[in-house]
Amino acid sequence: MKITVIGGGAAGMACAILLARSQKSVTILERGERLGRKLSATGNGQGNVTNVRMDASFYHTDDGDKLARILAGFLPADVVAFLESMGGIFLPDGRGRVYPAGRQASAVTDLMRRELSRLGVRVVTGARVAVLSRAARGLRAVWEGGECVSDAVVLAAGGAAAKNFGTDGTAYALAQAFGHTVAPLSPVLVQLKCDPSAVRGLKGIRMDAGLRVVRGGKQIYACRGDVLFTESGVSGDAVFRASSYAAAGDVLWIDFLPDVPPERLQSAVRAGEDGLLCIVPNGLGRFLYKRAQGREELLSLLKAFPLTVTGTLGFDYAQATRGGIPLAETDDGLQSIFCRGLYFAGEVLNADGECGGYNLHWAFASAHAAAEAIG
Ligand SMILES: Cc1cc2nc3c(=O)[nH]c(=O)nc-3n(C[C@H](O)[C@H](O)[C@H](O)COP(=O)(O)OP(=O)(O)OC[C@H]3O[C@@H](n4cnc5c(N)ncnc54)[C@H](O)[C@@H]3O)c2cc1C
Repeated sequence: MKITVIGGGAAGMACAILLARSQKSVTILERGERLGRKLSATGNGQGNVTNVRMDASFYHTDDGDKLARILAGFLPADVVAFLESMGGIFLPDGRGRVYPAGRQASAVTDLMRRELSRLGVRVVTGARVAVLSRAARGLRAVWEGGECVSDAVVLAAGGAAAKNFGTDGTAYALAQAFGHTVAPLSPVLVQLKCDPSAVRGLKGIRMDAGLRVVRGGKQIYACRGDVLFTESGVSGDAVFRASSYAAAGDVLWIDFLPDVPPERLQSAVRAGEDGLLCIVPNGLGRFLYKRAQGREELLSLLKAFPLTVTGTLGFDYAQATRGGIPLAETDDGLQSIFCRGLYFAGEVLNADGECGGYNLHWAFASAHAAAEAIG
């Protein structure tokens, strides 16, 4: 049985490895010059490949039940076992995020590339598939300078986020040609923008903070983690998580001292500007002191600093894509309901996870589901 995998990212490589291990003849068509470029950049270069805290509630999708079944078929321990079957050691940190012990994402890509080569998977780089169509037997993939016909195709061409890694959203058209729809796309796990004057002077300041997203007076999300001020807004892992929920017009409330009750700050705010030394970074202390009209406001800004969201930095700067091919347009093995032999894996599908290893986990779990179904 001949199988073509379109896209040599985390999902495409994983699927190809699983298929080749079950004796299938596999070809990967990758538009870039190398496999796994995005995988090599993940987790700030450290490769956060899954998370031990795993269930469907960490994801957004159109079909939560199907997603839950797919996750149940490939648990975080299975991701670790799959990767360690190629080499390496993978360990969780205190927040459940699993990394290679050597903390190098590019080494994960190297493991997978080495395994593909050991298994004899054919890899064609510089092959941007432009047309996918039915052939007399199977499916035909056409790229500039070549074409191939195979019994099954796995579309693992990613989403619309981070186009410098080869994912500009154009690959959805390959599925649309068979009647698939694309659930509305938006960038997630991305910096949030606000009025630059509201954060002027804070660029580069990072805090472990509490974050709440409030819409129309109602809290819609809360989390805790890194908040990093940028020129045009806020970034950091807490903000990335919040970006899955926040929209323009929402208010982000930042608690700079989530472990310190307001009573403990009373004497500090009474002591004037110097009172905030060793409580918040000096630059932030000066900024808050200047902005506050009196002690009460200073205290309230320390515990609840408001920023109105005006948007995001967009797809180019996002780590993941909300939307894509609906899970409802596939069966449990992620085969298209419109075209037998066409399967999907990874970010091309309408499933995006929170920050913390959930998107790579989805890439691996969905690749496993498709490979099992083909097998
Ligand atoms: C900077 C950054 C950091 C991240 N960090 C993490 C993290 O630590 N943990 C985590 O879980 N997630 C992380 N993510 C998200 C995660 O990397 C993605 O969700 C995941 O890589 C998606 O895997 P994929 O294989 O579906 O798609 P991709 O990795 O995007 O791969 C798709 C591949 O398809 C190729 N392609 C596209 N169109 C075509 C075509 N027409 N023909 C042939 N090939 C094509 C592309 O060139 C690309 O190589 C991060 C993302 C970014 C951008």
